Amino acid sequence: MEIRLLGTGGADGIPGFFVNDRVSAYARQFGGKDIRTRCGALIDGHIKIDLPPDTFCQVQRDGLNTRDWSALIFTHSHDDHFAVSEIQYSLIPFTEEEEWPCAIYANETVAGRIAERYPQWPIELRVSRSFESFEHSGYLVTPIKANHIPGEDCHNLIFQKDGCTLLYGTDTGIWPEETFEALKGFFLDLLIIECTEGFSRSDYKGHLNLDDLTQVIRRLHTLGTINQRTRIVTTHHASSGNATHDELVGALAPLGAEPGFDGMVIKVGNGA
Ligand SMILES: [Zn+2]
Ligand SMILES: [Zn+2]
Repeated sequence: MEIRLLGTGGADGIPGFFVNDRVSAYARQFGGKDIRTRCGALIDGHIKIDLPPDTFCQVQRDGLNTRDWSALIFTHSHDDHFAVSEIQYSLIPFTEEEEWPCAIYANETVAGRIAERYPQWPIELRVSRSFESFEHSGYLVTPIKANHIPGEDCHNLIFQKDGCTLLYGTDTGIWPEETFEALKGFFLDLLIIECTEGFSRSDYKGHLNLDDLTQVIRRLHTLGTINQRTRIVTTHHASSGNATHDELVGALAPLGAEPGFDGMVIKVGNGA
């Protein structure tokens, strides 16, 4: 499998959309890996995860064609992952196609909002539920439950194909016990996990800072879900985390992890 990180920023990206903090100023001055758009990813060129408001620019930047997508899998309903208005451009009158041959998988909250916005839309819309695996085009996909929005079944996603397993978790919080319990049954070749709050800490429990991430990584080692062979890449970084890309490289190395960046392509398994 190959996963392309289209965006690796938190809700308002880096530089923060309306922010003038140290990390945003650094990113404006130096650019490069410190520019982080809102989180989305693409597996093997055709399984799209989330539809953030930056998707149009990400697609142009990386020379992608959205008509290659066979599935669009949503993790949760926050605006930085679910720009429902963008879906309209896959329809007449913006294209000549009568249908969009791309299955949409979404939790009840997101599926409900799509159905409400596009009631007549001829699309495959399937409700996904945590711990209920589904198959798509030869991939086994298992949503696991994040600790992110009270009352919503927010997903992190495990993808398995050809003996390889990767977990994509942009908005995790410290997982509930049932999620750690489920993770016992997996060995991850690749773990992509948020470190939204970096060196800082807010009152919001739905995200991880470096201390939280350290705790989660230790627990996953104990469970046997990861080991030294597992590649660990971080994402969903906010400017309020007060960490530049280079600072993250240094801080994450002792954990056996590395910071992701926009446009990063990671291969798992054959050819990795
Ligand atoms: Zn987010
Ligand atoms: Zn979120």
